[in-house]
Formats: sequence, C-alpha cells, structure tokens
Amino acid sequence: MFEKILIANRGEIALRIHRACREMGIKTVAVHSTIDADAMHVRLADESVCIGPAPARDSYLNIHALLSAATITGADAIHPGIGFLSENANFAEMVEEHGFAFIGPTADHIRVMGDKVAAKRAVTGAGLPVVPGSDGAVATVEEARALVQRIGCPVLIKATAGGGGKGMKVVNHIDEVDEQYRLARSEAKAAFGNDEVYMEKYLARPRHIEVQLLADTHGNVVHFGERDCSIQRRHQKVVEEAPSPALNKQEREKVGMLASRTAKLLGYRGVGTMEFLYEDGNFYFIEMNTRLQVEHPITEAITGIDLVREQIRVATGAPLGYTQEDITFEGHAIECRVNAEDPDTFAPSPGKVVAYHPAGGLGVRVDTALYAGYSVPPTYDSLVAKLIVYGATRNECLMRLRRSIEEFVIDGIKTTLPLHQRIISQNEFIDGQYDIRWLENKLKDGSL
Ligand code: ADP
Repeated sequence: MFEKILIANRGEIALRIHRACREMGIKTVAVHSTIDADAMHVRLADESVCIGPAPARDSYLNIHALLSAATITGADAIHPGIGFLSENANFAEMVEEHGFAFIGPTADHIRVMGDKVAAKRAVTGAGLPVVPGSDGAVATVEEARALVQRIGCPVLIKATAGGGGKGMKVVNHIDEVDEQYRLARSEAKAAFGNDEVYMEKYLARPRHIEVQLLADTHGNVVHFGERDCSIQRRHQKVVEEAPSPALNKQEREKVGMLASRTAKLLGYRGVGTMEFLYEDGNFYFIEMNTRLQVEHPITEAITGIDLVREQIRVATGAPLGYTQEDITFEGHAIECRVNAEDPDTFAPSPGKVVAYHPAGGLGVRVDTALYAGYSVPPTYDSLVAKLIVYGATRNECLMRLRRSIEEFVIDGIKTTLPLHQRIISQNEFIDGQYDIRWLENKLKDGSL
C-alpha cells in the first residue's frame, strides 16, 4: 500500500481524494497555487506545497513543479484528480519515469482515448456500436461537404481532442458546412491547441448514458451500472442520476456488459467511464473518460462502494477481489452540480462566501471545499459544490433533494442552486422524461 499520495488537484475533488486516503491510513500532500493558500484541501492535508502563481498553466498544470513537490515530500504516488492533468498522457508517463505510481490508467490508454477518432476506432474493433459518421478526421471542407451530403443533416462537427463540450458545431443545412467547419476548427485550436475535427450524425433526441468501469492489473473488469447525464447545458452535465429512469433491466445489463467487455479487450486498468448516446433502444459509444468522473458519487450511493478507494487499491497492483455478481444496486441517487454562477444568466459569480450551511440529514452528501469566509477565486472551474442525494426509491430521492436544496445556504456569491430547484420541479423531470436537449429547450423558451 502507498504511504503518501500527492494530490495534483484542488477544490472539492482534492478533498474527496484526501478523504479516501485518510480512511486508508495514507498520508496526503496537497499542492496549491498562491491564490489557494487558504483553501480547504490545503488545510486538511498532512503536508502542502505551493507550486506556483494562480494561472493553472503556472501551477496545477506545471508538471515540473508537481514532480518536484512529490520528490521533496517523499510521496510514492500521484493522484491527478479530475480536469487539469488527469487526461494528460505525457504527465502519466513522466510520473512513472520519475518513480512514482500514477493513480490512473497507462499513458497509452489515456493517449488512445484522448484522441476521439482513435478511441472510436479502438472500440469499434472491439465490437462496440458508434454514432455513424466520418471514418477518422475530416481534413478539408470539401470532405466535410461530401460527408454531409452522404449522411444527411443534421451533422455534428467535433474536435478530435475534445472535452467539456468545446469545439462542437451543428450543421443543420448543407449551406452551413463551410462556416461551421471553420468555426469548429478554430474553437478546437483555441481550446486544445489541435484543430483536427471529425464528424458524426447529430442524433435528434438521445439520452446520455454512461457506464462506470473498474479494472485491476490482472485482467479483471467490473462495471458499477449506468448514470444518466442527459440534463445538460452546452453539452455539459448539470444534473445526473443513477440508475437511469429510461433503461429497463435488460438494457442496463446489456450496456454494462458491452462496456466492461470492451475495457477487458483493451486491457484497461483503473477507473474509467464509457459514454454512450441512447436513442430508440440503441446505444452508441461517444467517448471514454480515463479518469474519475465528477458524478461518481451517485454510483457510490447506489452500490455502497468507495470508488476512489478502489482506484487507489488497484493502482497498488491489488486484485479486485470480487466479481460482477458481487456488485448490487440499491435505491436511487441524484447529483446537482452547484456552480458559482448567476442561475439566470450563467455569468460567473466568484467572491467571498459570507454564510455557508450545507444541507444534511439521512441520504444527503455534499462534496465541497467551501466554508464561510472563503473567497471563490475567479481563476478556475465554477463548480463549487456537489449535492448528492440518495433515496430508497426515485420519488423519495426527489422529495429529499427538494428539501435539501431548500435548506442549503451559500450566501455572498450567486450559485445555481435555484436553477436546480426549478429543474427538479418540472413534470418532465419528475417523470424521468427528458433527453440531452430538454434543458436547453426549456431555457430557450423561458418555461423553466
Ligand atoms: P466532450 O468530450 O466535449 O464532453 P462528448 O463526445 O462526450 O464531448 O459529448 C458531449 C455531449 O455532446 C454529449 O453528452 C451529448 O449531449 C452531445 N453529443 C455528442 N455527440 C453527439 C451526437 N453525435 N449527437 C447528438 N449529441 C451529441
């Protein structure tokens, strides 16, 4: 077992990893930028190292500073968390070259899955269905036009290096191809430093269904069921639930089996998530995230398994020690992503938290690094808290979620809590009848 883990991240996820480490008797090293000196993840860690100024490229993305911090503190492993360097294959490689364990998959798996064209090819080879589209990157606008003519509108242009919904453009009419193609490439270049794009049929009303996977280094793979992440804005998740209200038992088993079989064929290790679009009873693979997901707590709630603990355990080389049949699902869980944003305009709302009182009680979990007096810096992601609520049934979960939002106080900054209350009060949400376009449409027509 590891004795000391350096957590190469900040905010609620750094705290989440710290908690798993402490419960396993592992010491933690926090790293922080100058602006995060009084952050909760720094306060709770056994040791902390300042790795640079506020901009992420100078601190949380500064590989040399992170490796130096791990060396001087004598850490034996590095956990990359979510975002920042968590899907950077070079980082994973350098961590191992410097003699630390990387708590994540191999650099090769990160590389393949980080290139969405390569990822689609890899999983197609393993027998997974994908959204119909270009066979690889689309290098010229002429190629893009020909493809639109072949598969018909609407078509989605996506960045090969994509993430966070960036670099995606919809083509609704053949006349729009040139402009959308150019826009997608320049957005991809700005966001990822790589302007390669590919194209897919733009599915009309799919749901986003993803499968949580865990693999050890001995070839054992299990899945922890699905999450429904169809409540999205700008292709980014807002609310997630597990299990999906749209799947029946056969579909649930089918997608879980498809995903874990593919991960096994690919020789994957660690935690990972395969994302699918689900429409008319069919699943189409869209991508695999080779890291922990923001929404992992809802899976923990319905399986009773600490995924970060499992992630650390398999990184030591330990075998899973259980099989798919040992994993059971109970109840229902929903997560609301609470962002420091105006709930009506989505404008960022950093600043000082003057009062903080989290929701509590049976079945309520709040993952956050906020405290009264803390100043949310304007520099990083706007996610400041995750409200995760569990109930024996979906209805119990919804009732509990409603009262949890009512009692959750974060004063001084604006947050998306009021938006969440509106979302979960809609009849379509209560009935589980929504798809990836539902929230955007509601926001557009002002009926939320
Ligand atoms: P990113 O890595 O940027 O998050 P994904 O490929 O995971 O990109 O897609 C993010 C979201 O975009 C999906 O959850 C879905 O809402 C939407 N999306 C992606 N591909 C398609 C498609 N072919 N048709 C319709 N919606 C799509």
